Amino acid sequence: GPVLGLEASCDETAAALLAPDGTILAEAVRSQLAEHTPFGGVVPEIAARAHLAHLPALAAQVMGQAGVRPAELGGIAATAGPGLIGGLIVGASFGKGMAIAHNLPFVAVNHLEGHALTARLPLLRQTGVVEGEVAFPYLLLLLSGGHCQCVAVEGLGRYRRLGSTLDDAVGEAFDKSAKLMGLPWPGGPALEKLAASGDPMRFPLPRPMLGRPGCDFSFSGLKTAVAQLVPKLENEQDRADLAAAFQRVVAVVLADRARNALAMLPDATAMVVAGGVAANQGVRAALAAEAGRAGLPLVAPPIRLCTDNAVMIAWAGIERLRAGLTDGLDHAPRPRWPLAELSAERPRNQP
Ligand code: ATP
Ligand code: MG
Ligand code: FE
Repeated sequence: GPVLGLEASCDETAAALLAPDGTILAEAVRSQLAEHTPFGGVVPEIAARAHLAHLPALAAQVMGQAGVRPAELGGIAATAGPGLIGGLIVGASFGKGMAIAHNLPFVAVNHLEGHALTARLPLLRQTGVVEGEVAFPYLLLLLSGGHCQCVAVEGLGRYRRLGSTLDDAVGEAFDKSAKLMGLPWPGGPALEKLAASGDPMRFPLPRPMLGRPGCDFSFSGLKTAVAQLVPKLENEQDRADLAAAFQRVVAVVLADRARNALAMLPDATAMVVAGGVAANQGVRAALAAEAGRAGLPLVAPPIRLCTDNAVMIAWAGIERLRAGLTDGLDHAPRPRWPLAELSAERPRNQP
């Protein structure tokens, strides 16, 4: 039967229902932007309470839309880490409760595995984003507000971190620089809009890590440079020019890191992006050019599937159920749960 996915690890509450072949039957996301905006960032306690208030209704909504009764489900997949512990407990406990009540298999999904496997959703083939199923191994660039890493996706549950940020995540860099420039939170989309009318060559900015070996990232120096320029800005054009310069440097640095990451994974079949920053057109274009140089496609899922959602959690659940991997109801949510640790795990509850 269909698989219900539940996501409550950060500031999006989401539920989705997927058919066993991965076809999306219904999906719903409720952003907590309004709750957190007064504080300029995500407040964990507020997030947990909002997940608790809204997750049951979202789950009922997707079930109702698809006309599926709980007893008809083939399993429940809930994000169990990494993320904010309050929300993880809400999502995983709700999922376990449904699994107990209706005697269904339960899958504790690693949120990052959800991002990693999104590229393999049938929707991407059906909409022509990719030609066939994206085959292992491939390079994943996870570019969000909380994560910034290059990952070798070698198989289900088999991930190798090739590099990651030494300080801020790239989305965090967008958010912090945008805030310094007086833009509203979350800063990424606002900064991209402003950058559209700017001259990226006007302000020279540092290009952290450019040309260095490996594929680690660093963004704090860039943020400092932005902080030093902000007091000198006199008008709207100056601000647009700085936004454009910032976005350009980030795109150039990401492309440079991606090139080295591909060199570390010579048999990669594709370059895949995930995370909110994948919405940025400048970043996408730079990465597409880099992938093209290596003769590989850039796989960029639709933006709603790049940011946090439950479709990816249900899909990771389906891939795990197919492999016979389910979890016990005593599985404890983990606020820290690196992808690489999945590889080391024994098959959980494998028959
Ligand atoms: P996690 O890392 O746990 O997934 P998150 O909520 O920060 O957490 P996402 O929801 O995937 O991750 O992405 C949000 C981030 O993406 C924010 O930092 C936001 O500024 C950034 N972002 C969104 N749209 C754009 C854009 N057009 N350009 C640049 N950055 C963007
Ligand atoms: Mg988010
Ligand atoms: Fe995420």
